Amino acid sequence: MKKIQMVDLKGQYSDIKDEVNNSIQDVIETTTFINGPKVHEFQKNLETYLNVKHVIPCANGTDALQIAMMGLGLKPGDEVITADFTFAATVEVIALLQLTPVLVDVNPDDFNINIEALERAITSKTKAIVPVHLFGQCAHMEAIMKIAEKHNLFVIEDNAQAIGAHYTYKDGSKAKAGTIGHVGATSFFPSKNLGCYGDGGAIFTNDDALAHRIRGIVNHGMYERYHHDVVGVNSRLDSIQAAVLDIKLQRLDAYNAARKAAADKYDQAFKGIKNIEIPFRNGTEDSHVFHQYTLQVKHMDRDALVKHLNENDIPCGVYYPIPLHRQKAYLDERYKETDFKVTNQLVKEVISLPMHTELEDDQIEYITSTIINFING
Ligand SMILES: *Cc1c(COP(=O)(O)O)cnc(C)c1O
Repeated sequence: MKKIQMVDLKGQYSDIKDEVNNSIQDVIETTTFINGPKVHEFQKNLETYLNVKHVIPCANGTDALQIAMMGLGLKPGDEVITADFTFAATVEVIALLQLTPVLVDVNPDDFNINIEALERAITSKTKAIVPVHLFGQCAHMEAIMKIAEKHNLFVIEDNAQAIGAHYTYKDGSKAKAGTIGHVGATSFFPSKNLGCYGDGGAIFTNDDALAHRIRGIVNHGMYERYHHDVVGVNSRLDSIQAAVLDIKLQRLDAYNAARKAAADKYDQAFKGIKNIEIPFRNGTEDSHVFHQYTLQVKHMDRDALVKHLNENDIPCGVYYPIPLHRQKAYLDERYKETDFKVTNQLVKEVISLPMHTELEDDQIEYITSTIINFING
């Protein structure tokens, strides 16, 4: 059995090595390092893939979220509601822009923002909602868009973990994650479902005026060279990263299918095992792209399981061990522990298993049997 990796980027690279190397070499030979033709090509291909009017590439996923909020013209003091159970980047950019983050609890099944908690958190100062499509599955976008419309709020999708996932509306129609709200943001961090070989990110929108504002913001607020109309930032996707991404985008559906196949095998092995709750799927085949495969372990010592796995050379992760509302940087006296019952439970019960495009059957068998033997003690 090959050594088990949490994420196997090397194995994935070996399959596309020549293509990637040639494409990177091309960028170097033409010295079009910034905003070269590769960036434009990738942008166009991603627009087609997502079926969205505008993709604006940028330097990373955190920037993508920040720039989306800048583009919407959110002002200091505006309240922005997001999930308590997510990576800190989501709330970090809200705070950085001097907006007021308002954290709310999540669902116990799909770990995404809870609709009732979201509605309760709306005040006259609320201006935006940031649903995070956690671990690869969409938040309840139809309900969120309805609430947003009713209260005149912007919706910014944090799609860093769910690129390629589909959201299915009640009427059966589908849209790609990140293209449903007013604006979507994603990350191409190497371990994401579509990852480059460094940092990268992108913003998506179907709104022409917003896309125009954002294109200026990513480039120092310039719409015409050396005319700075708004305060912007410097956030660009390198041509070398775009070269890698354009090759991997062609394989994204296959990569996500490989993740799902691994998830199916995990599910199968854990069926009927007491103390283990397998990841919830909302029922449609293409809804979950398994950025993480996250179990909930009930009525047992999760950390003892983590230790046991590590002792048996099985890497695993706890995403996330501390809810955002208890992080020093984001403490707020308005929060009551009783408002975060689900997150407070999840941080004690979640464990994410190795998940990538190169997992092999014998590895999955070893991982699942090690866990099951530990539980059956
Ligand atoms: C990775 C991630 C980000 C940030 O992306 P970077 O490219 O690392 O800046 C934001 N939100 C979520 C949910 C993420 O998983």
